[in-house]
Amino acid sequence: MDLSQAKIQEIVQQVLNDMNGTSAAPKASGPIPKTSRVAMLTALEHYDIKEYPIPELGDDDILVKVEGCGVCGTDAHEFKRDPFGLIPVVLGHEGTGEIVKMGKNVSKDSAGKPLKVGDKVVTCMIFKDNPDITMYDLNKQNVGGADVYGLLPDDDIHLNGWFADYMVIRKGSSVFNVSELDLDSRILIEPCAVLIHAVERAKTTGILRFNSRVVVQGCGPIGLICIAILRTMGVENITAVDGEEKRLNFAKEMGATKTVNFKEHQGIEALTKAVEDSFGGYLADFAFQCTGSPIAHANIYKFIRNGGGLCELGFFINGGDATINPHFDICSKEITTVGSWVYTLRDYATTFDFLKRAKAIGLPMSKLITHRFPLDQINEAHVTNLKMEGLKIAIINK
Ligand SMILES: [Zn+2]
Repeated sequence: MDLSQAKIQEIVQQVLNDMNGTSAAPKASGPIPKTSRVAMLTALEHYDIKEYPIPELGDDDILVKVEGCGVCGTDAHEFKRDPFGLIPVVLGHEGTGEIVKMGKNVSKDSAGKPLKVGDKVVTCMIFKDNPDITMYDLNKQNVGGADVYGLLPDDDIHLNGWFADYMVIRKGSSVFNVSELDLDSRILIEPCAVLIHAVERAKTTGILRFNSRVVVQGCGPIGLICIAILRTMGVENITAVDGEEKRLNFAKEMGATKTVNFKEHQGIEALTKAVEDSFGGYLADFAFQCTGSPIAHANIYKFIRNGGGLCELGFFINGGDATINPHFDICSKEITTVGSWVYTLRDYATTFDFLKRAKAIGLPMSKLITHRFPLDQINEAHVTNLKMEGLKIAIINK
């Protein structure tokens, strides 16, 4: 290999940068093309790959070259039923990419960190005029109901979602510089923020502590990330409950100390006993309910000790009513319950630090992304997602 002096200099600089944890000098990733592909959902269960001109940028806009985007449960609902009536729409809100061009007024991200061409970014929500959901520096209400890229009606710009080659981040959006995170971590930010928020909600009960015995029910991506967050916080006694051995094994890799397969225990008494046994004869101090099953919601109270706590976060959509016994399940046990929904902007920034800690303690976060598809196979990606065989499905643009 012929290494010129300049090349050696460049490599040395790169190594030094890596050691310092700073990102390399901005590199232009080639000329910006005139057009961008987008995957547009044009009918139920059907995306078309369309091509649109990349528009002139406004002074407050950012042009991002998309590197990847996770497929969310919300995308699955849109794909199947269009509950938000958005078709035609460019979906994809768990995306990340590289800044290739910025308007002259853009200099910092939503946390005050400098932004430059070459930086890797994610977006959170698009500001509305409600200060309760838009203020970064206060722990205000969650961003539920706010607009996000990837769930916007189609317009003249078209580059509105992360299932595309390029996206235009417009004035008034929250954007974060996450150059220090690898691509997989960046794709996982949005779902992880949901769990950071849930754990913050759980902490408001005052019951969740370092030595708490914690049940996490449901080992889909949400439950698995919940376990990972608890581990990075130093919670040691975690029992994962699920019906699939494969997922329970993964829960152990993510930090669960014990697992209970509910299919191996007939009836709620036997199941409760199994959970109790997993903690050496004690019920849980705290429980996270991470499934969308009303029966699972009804069951989880039985796993919690008198005076314990519960965070319910599994119902992203209306899964129907659950039957509980208020006397036995809540009053006589004095259980403190919190619900959790999406996240705040503050949670978003906390998530970046969580992902660094998870990596540092060796949690296999990347394994959450079980399937990767190029943009032109987005229909296949969604069909795979609907089969529920994997965990996180991602579109990767490289
Ligand atoms: Zn999502």
